[in-house]
Amino acid sequence: MIIVLKSNVSPEEENAVVEEIKKLGYQPHVMHGVARTVIGAIGDEHSHCDLDVLNAWPQVESVTPVQKRHKLVSREAHPQDSTVNAGGAIVGGKKIQVMAGPCSVESEEQLMKTAHAVKAAGAGMLRGGAFKPRTSPYEFQGLGEEGLKLLAKAREETGLPIVTELLSQDQAGLVAEYADMLQIGTRNAQNFQLIIAAAKTGKPVLLKRGMSMRIMEWLLAGEYVLANRNPNLLFCERGIRTFEDYTRNTLDLSAVAIVKAESHCPIVVDPSQGCGKASLVCSMCRGAVAMGADALLIEVHPNPAEAMSDAAQQIDLDGFAALMEELRPIAESAGREL
Ligand code: PEP
Ligand code: MN
Repeated sequence: MIIVLKSNVSPEEENAVVEEIKKLGYQPHVMHGVARTVIGAIGDEHSHCDLDVLNAWPQVESVTPVQKRHKLVSREAHPQDSTVNAGGAIVGGKKIQVMAGPCSVESEEQLMKTAHAVKAAGAGMLRGGAFKPRTSPYEFQGLGEEGLKLLAKAREETGLPIVTELLSQDQAGLVAEYADMLQIGTRNAQNFQLIIAAAKTGKPVLLKRGMSMRIMEWLLAGEYVLANRNPNLLFCERGIRTFEDYTRNTLDLSAVAIVKAESHCPIVVDPSQGCGKASLVCSMCRGAVAMGADALLIEVHPNPAEAMSDAAQQIDLDGFAALMEELRPIAESAGREL
């Protein structure tokens, strides 16, 4: 890190900072300028606390880190794009993976019908919630393990790997038994113990962006996955809370470019939670594909009007097939395939 001292600092005050830098385990290199003294502290910036400690000294003007705080997810650690293999579906390669399926698993008939239709239209993975993080306790909470069993059956029938959400640490083992990818939802995006539990199962982890989360906070939440020896992390932009209420959330497509620049991990876009309106989902997908998203997470239901959750944003089976056709040329022009 680079430490700039205030002007008119005495040699004793400078020396005190130098000693503190050594105590923290860094090698100080002092540069006396005309007006200011700058100290380069060489060493592994293992803890952000070190910056805070030095910043607290009254004779210190500023402390600037040299290393990224999100070390393992950063491109510095791994310059090439990473790919994640979820039950045979590769995310982060040339093919844009489409993860499609209902918001909630509701019944065998609903799930099988959807799974076969999305597979036929070109989806590479099946999504579906068995444990649902509902805003109200009076709303459908999901089928639980029964839902996981139905997802596993749908995988058996269609060959589509499964992505599904877990809500608590004690569900990690159970959900990992059935799923090919574990989803951490927006409401749990900074539930670090849950993220660690998911990471420790060894299954790929799809980390949604918290609805009020800054990108740096999101990257650092993802860092928990890699720091727990699971390299299979995907970031998923799903819209953030803004002053705009025309849409359910504001889908922040700039996150695709930013995460691509900052991280080697694949970036997924969820246009369904992102806009909350079925009529806007296709446009959001078009934008996401053009921006370079590695995958899309799309809610599809055989009869959205009767859906037990997120009815307004789910597209129907024909709508999904049409959407895939519309996206193909855009994917090709972006150098990808669908
Ligand atoms: C979902 O995918 O159905 C969901 C609940 O997502 P989020 O956590 O982004 O709201
Ligand atoms: Mn949903």
